[in-house]
Amino acid sequence: MLDFSKLFKILIFAIILSNSLFDSLLFLVTSLVPLNPEILEPKDLFNLRNFPFSFPFVIILLMEVKEIFAKTILTKTAISGFDYCINPYVGCGHGCRYCYASFMKRFTGHLEPWGEFIDVKVNAPYLLRKQLKRAKQGIVALSTVTDPYQPIEMKYHLTRKCLEALLETQLSVNILTRSPLCLRDIDLFKQFKRIEVGLSITTHDEGIKKIFEPYSPSIHSRVKALRILRQEKIETYAFVGPMLPLDPKPLVAMLDGLIDEALIDRMNYPNKVKAIYRKAKLEKYLEEDYFHVVGAELKERFEKKGIPVSMIF
Ligand code: SF4
Repeated sequence: MLDFSKLFKILIFAIILSNSLFDSLLFLVTSLVPLNPEILEPKDLFNLRNFPFSFPFVIILLMEVKEIFAKTILTKTAISGFDYCINPYVGCGHGCRYCYASFMKRFTGHLEPWGEFIDVKVNAPYLLRKQLKRAKQGIVALSTVTDPYQPIEMKYHLTRKCLEALLETQLSVNILTRSPLCLRDIDLFKQFKRIEVGLSITTHDEGIKKIFEPYSPSIHSRVKALRILRQEKIETYAFVGPMLPLDPKPLVAMLDGLIDEALIDRMNYPNKVKAIYRKAKLEKYLEEDYFHVVGAELKERFEKKGIPVSMIF
């Protein structure tokens, strides 16, 4: 049966794309995001795009967005190094093909492909303030099964509002994202006693990124975000995980001087992505040897630059 709502959205998209209104509409939407003009200009948000479907505006338009009321938002986590996690959204507009968080579909009853739906926990900041009254000291990971700065955050600002709530406590915060949209919240980052902001740099190659992370911001824009964070004296790290096909030399060179630490992880669910590797003739990058040999070279090169490394596998 025809899905008329999706058809309607695609029609709108086609109309927008086919005339000059597109850029002005995009400008209008991105201009609504509160920006610190000294740090991020609207044109930087345009850089999030790699091809038309990567426009944050289009991603939001094509997704099934549902506002929900969560029962809890500050959750204890067993992930090493963290005490709590906060996931303001269920689902993720970045839609990485290898995403382990896609298991969330099982618990939420979503039938749409991963990357095409998003549940927005609209009561997250309110709930967080309530839960924080009982929280002990510790480190909060933002986020573990979604990206806190995915495109929908431009509209709902839930991550920002959760950070504002966390600022009222002594908890430490660890952010991990694939998006330079995190630069919007530098004013808040600067007020935390202890905060680390990490960008996932899974490869140095934009072509490889497009295969595995079709809707996420470019690697170039993430590196630029790390540079700006560093200039603003925020503690930064790069998460090279999962290691997509990459060359350690240019990857380490592009991060030189921009990070306080590097974390390296392998592809943890190879069976999930075997077909994509095969289709792109990249199978050798899924072999055990690749992760161990290239992982070791990455570590050595980072350490030579004075950057401490944690291997997670
Ligand atoms: S950005 Fe993170 S949570 Fe989002 S799809 Fe990619 S791996 Fe999954």
